[in-house]
Amino acid sequence: MTLAVGVIGTGMIGSDHIAKLSGTIAGARVSAVFDVDAERAAAVAVGAGAKACGSAQEVISSTDTDAVLIASPGPLHPEQVLACLAAAKPVLCEKPLATTVEDCAAVLDAEAALGRRLVQVGFMRRYDEGFRQVKAAVDAGSIGEPLLVHSVHRNPTVPASFTADMSMTDSVVHEFDTYRWLLGQEVVAVTVLAARRSPRAAEHMRDPQLVLMEMADGVLVEVESFVNCQYGYDVRCEVVGSEGTVNLDNPAFTALAARGARGKGVPPDWQARFGAAYQTELQQWVDGLAAGHDAAGPSAWDGYAATAVGLACVESIRAGCRVEVSLPERPALYA
Ligand code: NAP
Repeated sequence: MTLAVGVIGTGMIGSDHIAKLSGTIAGARVSAVFDVDAERAAAVAVGAGAKACGSAQEVISSTDTDAVLIASPGPLHPEQVLACLAAAKPVLCEKPLATTVEDCAAVLDAEAALGRRLVQVGFMRRYDEGFRQVKAAVDAGSIGEPLLVHSVHRNPTVPASFTADMSMTDSVVHEFDTYRWLLGQEVVAVTVLAARRSPRAAEHMRDPQLVLMEMADGVLVEVESFVNCQYGYDVRCEVVGSEGTVNLDNPAFTALAARGARGKGVPPDWQARFGAAYQTELQQWVDGLAAGHDAAGPSAWDGYAATAVGLACVESIRAGCRVEVSLPERPALYA
C-alpha cells in the first residue's frame, strides 16, 4: 500500500517534508497540498505530483488523502488537527500542537472521544541517533542515577518575525519534550533568567537566556537558549549521573587541520543537524500507518505537556520568578 499524504503548509519545513515524502520515504506519496500562498503551493504541488487544493479542509476531506501532515503556523494547528480527527484521519502535526493549553485540551478530548491515537506531534529529536544513544545509556543505568542535565540550544540567527516568547514556545520547546522523554519524568517547575543581551539580538528579544527545569524526581535540567549565536546550529547535552556522564556532541561533519590547529565543523542549520531524524520520523510514521497501527510517536499528551511548560517559561520571564507547571492527570489513552 502507498500512503497518500495531504500536506497543509508548504513553507520551510512543509516543503522539506514534501520533498522527503515524494522522494526518499518508501511507501508514501504526496496527494494534496494547501497553503494560503497559492503560488507557493502550486509550485510545490507540481514538483511532488500532487493536487493543489483551495483550502485545508479540502486536503483533509479528499478521498485521495489517507493521512495529513500539518506544517502551517502554530496558532492554526489545533483547528486543523481537530478537522483531521473529525474526519478520523491520522495526522502528523508539526510542533507546537497548539499555543494554549485550552486548545491542547480540546485535541485530547477529541482523541479520547474517538478512543484512538491518531495524532502525532513533530518532536523529531526522539528519532535522532545521538539522542537515542543518550537515552539508551540512561535507561541501561550506565551512568547510575541521572542527577543533572546541561544542555545547549543555539541557532545562528532567527527571522525578524521571531517574537520574544518564541524562544521558549518555538525553540526550547524541543528541550521540554526531549528531557521529558529522555528522563521519563514530567517538568514540575521552571525558572528563566536572561543574560546580558547580545548586541546581535533584536530590541524586543532577551537573548541568550537560561532555562532551569525541575523534573518530578528532582533531576535539574539547565538549558542555554541562544537564538543569535551567529556561528552555526549547535545542540548539545550532557547528562550527569551518580556513576558517570553521557555526553552528546554535534555529529562530526569535517575536521580541518591547518595553521597549527585542528577544528571541527558545526552544522549550519537544523536541517543539516536533524535531517536524518526527520527522515526516520516520517518513515516510521508511514510504516506504522501502512501496517494499520495508530500513531506511536510523540502524542497529543506530549504536545500538551510541552506547551504547558513553554507557557510556564513565558510566565517566568514576565513575572521574574520560578513558576510551577500544573498538568492534569495523564489520560488513560496516553498511559
Ligand atoms: P513557514 O516557512 O512560515 O511556513 C508556514 C507556511 O504556512 C507558510 O507558507 C504560510 O504562508 C502558510 N500558512 C499560513 N496560514 C496558513 C493556513 N491558514 N493554512 C495553510 N498554510 C498556511 O514556517 P515553518 O518554519 O515551515 O514552520 C511551520 C511549522 O513547523 C511551525 O509550527 C514551526 O514551529 C514548525 N517547525 C518545526 C520544526 C522542527 O524541528 N520540528 C522546524 C521548523 C518548523 P505565509 O508565509 O503566506 O503566511
